[in-house]
Amino acid sequence: ALEALMIKLAPPVQQRERASGVKKTYDGPAVEAAIEAGELVNYYQPKVRVDTGALAGVETLVRWQHPEDGIIYPDQFIGVAEKHGLINALTQKVLEQAFAQARLWQQSGYELKVAVNVSMDNLASLDFQDVVVRLAAKSAIPPNKIVLEITESQLMGDVRVSLEILTRLRLKRFHLSIDDFGTGHSSLAQLRDIPFDELKIDQGFVHRAWESETLRVIYDTSLALAKQLNMETVAEGVEDRGDWELLRQTGCDLAQGNFIAKPMPADRLSHWMKEWQTRIETESLVAKD
Ligand code: C2E
Ligand code: MG
Ligand code: MG
Ligand code: MG
Repeated sequence: ALEALMIKLAPPVQQRERASGVKKTYDGPAVEAAIEAGELVNYYQPKVRVDTGALAGVETLVRWQHPEDGIIYPDQFIGVAEKHGLINALTQKVLEQAFAQARLWQQSGYELKVAVNVSMDNLASLDFQDVVVRLAAKSAIPPNKIVLEITESQLMGDVRVSLEILTRLRLKRFHLSIDDFGTGHSSLAQLRDIPFDELKIDQGFVHRAWESETLRVIYDTSLALAKQLNMETVAEGVEDRGDWELLRQTGCDLAQGNFIAKPMPADRLSHWMKEWQTRIETESLVAKD
């Protein structure tokens, strides 16, 4: 019943603002060259605890720093990479950069969990878990500080090998997160069988859920399901104070979105942390009224 509700009520995906109006398309060779030339840059978006405002971790969001076209967003090249057999090389680059960065943060005294988005195509061969294990060990990042995010809509069809790899990674103590929850239709059995640690409610059911009964039903139901299954809950797409207050009222664990911070280069994080601390106080963001 929950599944049916989610599919029918899923709102259209919001179009985000982009620098240029016309979207260029990039082909396989162009993306391959970009990976090799080191033009992929990791941005990081904070995930904060709703009760205290404390920074719990960051999500890695890859950008292509194109020499002529400027910053290219993942929706313009991840699909291309998947189609042209480049996604393993791409994910490996993103993981290497994320773990190296996590190491630097660790050395500066920040104990952050670092999340990386994983494509279902990465989970096609058992080699993937070896890559993740090896890269984590090389940077001396403990597995329980690493979160692998898998989009719910990709968890459909015949996913036995993928589930096997996820299960093995979980046994090695890596944390697993189900992303964009509500936009796919994973079965309840799958949610029970795969040991996800975290559930991210899709931004389409978070932003403005405080003023829409329809969105609110899906938000509440997703939150309740995650809590029943002992998963940590994250709301994505927290864009305004109303969204933030809803999370506080409903006991969502973590928040992520432009209201808190947009994705940023690693070197801006410490400056943002100071700003955020100030905002927590001046805007009474975690005050127990
Ligand atoms: P996602 O994993 O669900 O990431 C959240 C997306 O929402 C990001 O878009 C983020 O910039 C955006 N976002 C964050 N806060 C807000 C907000 O308050 N409002 C709105 N409207 N949007 C917000 P981005 O960076 O363009 O990434 C899009 C998708 O591309 C990601 O969705 C993820 O599925 C995929 N992706 C990003 N990096 C990677 C990667 O390294 N590997 C793979 N395989 N996929 C990636
Ligand atoms: Mg994600
Ligand atoms: Mg998401
Ligand atoms: Mg998404």
